[in-house]
Amino acid sequence: MRTLGNYVNGQNVDSTSESTAPVYNPATGEQTLQVALSSVEETLNAISAAEQAFAGWSKITPLKRARILFKFKALVEEHVDELARLIASEHGKVFSDAKGEVTRGLEVVEFACGIPHLQKGEHSMNVGTGVDSYSMMQPLGVCAGISPFNFPAMVPMWMFPIALACGNTFVMKPSEKDPSTPLRLAELLKEAGLPDGVFNVVNGDKEAVDVLLTDERVEAVSFVGSTPIAEYIYATASAHGKRVQALGGAKNHMVIMPDADLDQAVDALMGAAYGSAGERCMAISVAVPVGEETAERLREKLVIQLNQLSVGPGLVEGPDNDMGPLVTCEHLEKVKDYIRIGEEEGAELVIDGRYTSIPGGEDGYFIGGSLFDRVTPGMRIHSEEIFGPVLCIARAASFDEAVSIINEHEYGNGTAIFTRDGDAARQFCEQIQVGMVGVNVPIPVPMAFHSFGGWKRSLFGPLHMHGPDGVRFYTRMKTITQRWPGGIREETNHFTMPTH
Ligand code: NAD
Repeated sequence: MRTLGNYVNGQNVDSTSESTAPVYNPATGEQTLQVALSSVEETLNAISAAEQAFAGWSKITPLKRARILFKFKALVEEHVDELARLIASEHGKVFSDAKGEVTRGLEVVEFACGIPHLQKGEHSMNVGTGVDSYSMMQPLGVCAGISPFNFPAMVPMWMFPIALACGNTFVMKPSEKDPSTPLRLAELLKEAGLPDGVFNVVNGDKEAVDVLLTDERVEAVSFVGSTPIAEYIYATASAHGKRVQALGGAKNHMVIMPDADLDQAVDALMGAAYGSAGERCMAISVAVPVGEETAERLREKLVIQLNQLSVGPGLVEGPDNDMGPLVTCEHLEKVKDYIRIGEEEGAELVIDGRYTSIPGGEDGYFIGGSLFDRVTPGMRIHSEEIFGPVLCIARAASFDEAVSIINEHEYGNGTAIFTRDGDAARQFCEQIQVGMVGVNVPIPVPMAFHSFGGWKRSLFGPLHMHGPDGVRFYTRMKTITQRWPGGIREETNHFTMPTH
C-alpha cells in the first residue's frame, strides 16, 4: 500500500516513521493509502528547512512574491478538476462542492497577490522638529498551520498564501484523514517558482503538532478544527510565546421570521444543513422558526424537500448527488449516536436518515438527512456539534427568544436571519453574539478580502483568518522615529530668515 510522506525543502520525502494512519475512500469504505505520522525529528527537519529559507524569501521583493502566487493561482485553476477529484475521493464531498472549495481557496490566493499594497505600512512627516515616523510590517519568520479534514484545500489556503505573500515561510500539518491535497498544492507552488523550503508539509498527528507548538523557531500557529483541540493549541502555543489564531467548532442557527419568504428560506436551509453532509463549520444545524405557524409551515416544506435529497458517491458520471458520505466509519457511528441521543432526550425525529437506502453505497459511510423537531436548548443535540446531516428545529415564540437561544449557546461561529423586515434584521445584526451573520444569506462566509472567524468558543485568539486580520496576523509592526539634522537646520533657517 502506498504511504504518503512529507514535502520538505522542495521535494516529496518518504517518512522514516513506523507509525501510519489509514486513508479511506468514504464512498466505498476501501483503504486507498496510508499516511505517515511523522516523528519529532522529521517535524524538526521541516522547521529547519523553513527557517533556512526565511532569510532569502523575506528579502525577495513583495512584487516577486506576488508574481509567484499569480502563477500558483493559474496552476491551481489548470488543475482544479484533479484537485477536486482528490478531495472527493478522500473526504467524500460531491465533485461540484469539491470544486467550489478549491475556488474559495483560490480567492484567498487572489487576495494575497495584492498584499504588497496592504503591507506598505504608515508614514507621518514632521511629527517633531525634523522628525519623521513610520511603521513597517515585517514578516514573522516560520509560521505553522494545522488544518481539519473538512476542507483539505480551502483551509490550508486560508493560511499559507497570506503568510507567504507577507514574507514568511511555512510548515503545514494537514488532517491525516485526507492528506493528499496539501501535498499536491506544495508541488504546484514549486512549479510556480516558490523557492525550496518556503512551504513544507508534515503529515502526522499530535506528536508532530506538539513540535510545532513548542519549537522556539516557530513564531505563529494558525489552527482550524474542533473546539477542545483549538483550546489546547491556543493554550500550548501561547505558553510557548507564539502568536496563535485557533478556530474551533460551531453550532449555527438560522432564524426564520413569520414574514420571511419561506420557499427561499427552505431552499437555503436544505443547502446549508445538508450540503457536504453537514460537515461544514458554517453549516446551519438549527432552524429557529418564530411563531407556531411559521414552524408548522417550515416543517412541512422541509419534509417535502428532504424526501427528495439525493445521497450517493461524490464522484459520479452525470449530475452530482446532493450529498456524499461522511468522512470515516467512526464519524458515521458518532452521527448515528447523536440521532439515538436526540430520540432519548425527547426530541421528535421527523425523518430518520439512518434508514435511508443508498443503492451501491452499502460499504460506504453514508447516512441520509435527518430532521428533528421540538428541540430545546437543554438537549445535547442542541448544545453539542454533531457535524453531520442532522437539522434540528428549535421553535421560538418571539424574536427575543430566538436571539437568546443563539446568544446563550457556547459557540458563536455563524448565524442567519430570514426576514423581510429591515428593523428585525438590523436589531439581529446588532444584538447577536456571533462572528459571521447572514441576512437572507444562509452561510455568510466572508469573502477573502474580509476576515473569517467566530466568537465565543468558536475562536481562540484575537485575529480572524484572511482579509485584513490575516495580514495583521502574519506581520509584526515596527515603528521608526527618526530625526535628521537637515530638518532641524531648515527649521532654524526658517526662524532666522530676515523678514521683508
Ligand atoms: P480535529 O480537531 O479533530 O483535528 C484538526 C487538526 O488537529 C488535525 O490536523 C488533527 O490531526 C489535529 N489534532 C487532532 N487531535 C489533536 C491533538 N490531541 N493534539 C494536537 N493536534 C490534534 O478536527 P476535525 O475533526 O479534523 O475537523 C472538524 C472540526 O473542525 C469541527 O469541529 C469543525 O467545526 C471544525 N472546523 C471549524 C472551522 C472554523 O472556521 N471555525 C472550519 C472548519 C472546521
